[in-house]
Amino acid sequence: MSERLSGHTLLISLIATPIRHSLSPKMHNEAFAKLGLDYAYLAFEVGNEELADAVQGIRALGIRGSNVSMPNKQAIIPYLDEISPAAELVGAVNTVVNKDGKGHLVGHVTDGTGAVRALAEEGVDIKDQIITLAGAGGAGTAIAVQLGLDGAKEVRIFNPKDAAFANAEKTVEKINSRTNTKASVTDLADDAAFKQSIAESSIYIDATGVGMKPLEDLSLINDPEVIRPDLVVFDVVYSPAETKLLKFAKEHGAKKAINGLGMMLYQGAEAFKLFTGEDMPVDYIKDLLFKEEN
Ligand code: NAD
Repeated sequence: MSERLSGHTLLISLIATPIRHSLSPKMHNEAFAKLGLDYAYLAFEVGNEELADAVQGIRALGIRGSNVSMPNKQAIIPYLDEISPAAELVGAVNTVVNKDGKGHLVGHVTDGTGAVRALAEEGVDIKDQIITLAGAGGAGTAIAVQLGLDGAKEVRIFNPKDAAFANAEKTVEKINSRTNTKASVTDLADDAAFKQSIAESSIYIDATGVGMKPLEDLSLINDPEVIRPDLVVFDVVYSPAETKLLKFAKEHGAKKAINGLGMMLYQGAEAFKLFTGEDMPVDYIKDLLFKEEN
């Protein structure tokens, strides 16, 4: 690393809290080194209170781009000059580009494109498909919007009647009015509707985080009859690499059981492309970062 850094090195930041556990610095720095790009990527512990100053810092220092994670994904929007159509629909940003370092900041969201690309890499095409999606928080909303933008036939969201439910209703309205995809949201407590929806879907996506600590012993699907040989099951959780849901789906013969590693990798790759204009060497990064988790 010390041999790479110079007075010309361009900085990419990551602003979030807590952030020290993030895989993104390693992912991007290893990719810069592999491609011989004169960039460095650093994580900064930034919450909502420091956000305005941090964005000012990006402009003042000519930082070329930034990833943004919780709790700043929505809060950063008023500080930006422009946001992409997908970020506008999602209402959140995870990637900011400072084009040529001149201070004009454009916000993007790559979680949804990352998820759709992860599915495509597994041979799963979402176009014209009926998809049941559990969860309407940050990840679920980005995925739902991208499924709409990329031409899914229907996105049927299921969520408990908590704070995210109202957000899901707004997302559904936007997808229905701005894309050709039919979207709906139903209370997850309606188990019969949930099962019926999955029975009519070719893809089931869990974006709730159920299956991750401290909920690692839980799965929203526990009835073997729900799993079919033509059903793709995708869980956005990547740690553990095999959630209870994915284990259950495999045991009962689902067509595919896909974890969130690909989504994590490709949301990073999409951001990398926006920062540098180059393709991340994804196979190399996948081996480096995720081998032991797979
Ligand atoms: P969030 O808190 O914004 O949303 C969580 C959603 O799940 C909400 O809609 C909530 O209503 C629902 N939910 C919460 N507890 C539930 C329960 N017990 N039963 C049913 N529904 C429940 O969180 P998020 O940022 O969207 O993250 C969700 C998960 O996605 C986390 O596990 C996170 O690690 C993962 N994630 C993965 C990637 C990736 O790249 N693979 C990216 C982002 C998030």
